[in-house]
Amino acid sequence: MSKFWSPFVKDLVPYVPGEQPKLTRLVKLNTNENPYGPSPKALEAMRAQLDDGLRLYPDPSGDQLRQAVADFYQVPSSHVFVGNGSDEVLAHAFHGLFQHGRPLLFPDISYSFYPVYCGLYGIPFEPIALDESFQIRIEDYDRPNGGIIFPNPNAPTGCLLPLEAIERLLQAHPDSVVLVDEAYIDFGGQTAVALVQRYPNLLVTQTLSKSRSLAGLRVGLAIGQPELIEALERIKNSFNSYPLDRVAIAGAAAAFADREYFQQTCTRVIESRELLVERMQALGFEVLPSAANFIFARHPQRDAAALAGALREQGIIVRHFKQPRIAQFLRITIGAPEQNQALLDALGSIL
Ligand code: PMP
Repeated sequence: MSKFWSPFVKDLVPYVPGEQPKLTRLVKLNTNENPYGPSPKALEAMRAQLDDGLRLYPDPSGDQLRQAVADFYQVPSSHVFVGNGSDEVLAHAFHGLFQHGRPLLFPDISYSFYPVYCGLYGIPFEPIALDESFQIRIEDYDRPNGGIIFPNPNAPTGCLLPLEAIERLLQAHPDSVVLVDEAYIDFGGQTAVALVQRYPNLLVTQTLSKSRSLAGLRVGLAIGQPELIEALERIKNSFNSYPLDRVAIAGAAAAFADREYFQQTCTRVIESRELLVERMQALGFEVLPSAANFIFARHPQRDAAALAGALREQGIIVRHFKQPRIAQFLRITIGAPEQNQALLDALGSIL
């Protein structure tokens, strides 16, 4: 530890993101990016900002994007918050909505940034075990808490919790914020945004990194009643009064407006997923039911770490987690058809 560090930095355990290799020849199926690229209309809107916008500060309210999201979901723009990737939006939510001294509840197998934010903001937490089929069981959340958070579909399992279960959870915990992290909702799930008007304790977060293929732009958002949105605004304005740069606001707004491209590319990913699941099963893999742009699969006779290593030798990267209960699984992003085929060919030669 350096003498220049604040004492709390010594104990911070930061999040370790999936590998971003420098080599472009690799088939990169490890961080759930979208193979199809952003909407051409989003690219055009961003180019216009490069030509004529960067001299000026962005709009501190991000109104153009908030309105585009509000139009898409048919909610008032006062219900929308935008930030630099949903990671940042989540950080503000932990900071502003979960600091109550009671434990935050989340699944024991889930997005590994949650315990990191708890460490950063000193929030006690209690991981709740998934059931034997790797599903979230809402009855297990029936205990005192300072909030509840889970991804839907869950990551890295890909499993979806139906909207009726989310509604029951909201009703059972009227005094807690329930945050539904919908990073992957557009690949087959039903969004909880439909419940926001009825439940003041619901906050839904989403990202443009997956279904809108803008991971490099860093844009995320939250939708909830103004009482929750105001907490996020207060926190954000205490760090940086500009939520997003001008390129990001214009590109993300155009991406939300281009529904046709969004629907077409999501459909292609979903179709590829169904095909990949079938082929992986034919190779002997067990695959959890996925509503995301990735699958979570294990081979009953093969060690997952060894498989990941062998795939890597053939230039294909997938994600492997060391957590004991899931150490025999591989998380594999749905790529373009030729990437998925390269994966299947490689597995065929390894098995
Ligand atoms: N939530 C979940 C469940 C995720 O898997 C991710 C992506 N790693 C994020 C949030 C964050 O996405 P981003 O910061 O790119 O919006």
